[in-house]
Amino acid sequence: MTHPTDADCVFCKIVAGKLPCFKLLEDGATIAFMDINPVNPGHALAVAKGHWPTVDAIPADVLADVARTAQRVAKAAVKALAPEGVNLVQANGAAAGQSVPHLHIHVMPRRRGDNVSLNWTPVPGDMKDIEAVADKLKAAL
Ligand code: 5GP
Ligand code: ZN
Repeated sequence: MTHPTDADCVFCKIVAGKLPCFKLLEDGATIAFMDINPVNPGHALAVAKGHWPTVDAIPADVLADVARTAQRVAKAAVKALAPEGVNLVQANGAAAGQSVPHLHIHVMPRRRGDNVSLNWTPVPGDMKDIEAVADKLKAAL
C-alpha cells in the first residue's frame, strides 16, 4: 500500500523503520507505538501510516482506521494496566498543542490526581452565542 510521506517527518521515519520505536501493533493503514515522553505509564500513540497533518486533511476512512487502532490500544491498556480512566486526545495545529504534524491519537491511561492537565472546569455558556456558532457550523457541514 502506498501512502503520502514527508521525508522530514519524525513519524514518517518511524513508519518507514528509519527511526526505532516500541511498536505495539501495525496494520495496513496504521501503526501504534509508545510515546517517548509519557504523561503516565502506558501513554501510546495510534498513528496513520500516511502523512496527513490534521483531521481536516486525512481521508475519513483512514481516520476511522486510526480510531480503531486507538481503541485496540485503549482496550489493551485497560486490560493490562487497570487505569482509573483513559483519555483519547488528538491535536490539530500548534495552538491546539500539536507538536508533530502527522495525524495521531494519544491513548493516555489516567489516574485520579495524576496532574495531567487536560481537564477544565465547565462554565455555562450564553445560549445565544452557542446557537449562533452552531448555525455557522451547520452552514459549513
Ligand atoms: P502532539 O504534541 O503532536 O499531540 O503529540 C506528539 C507526541 O509525539 C508527543 O507526545 C511526543 O512525546 C511524541 N514524540 C515526538 N517525537 C517522538 C519520537 O521520536 N518517538 C516517539 N515514540 N514519540 C515521539
Ligand atoms: Zn509524517
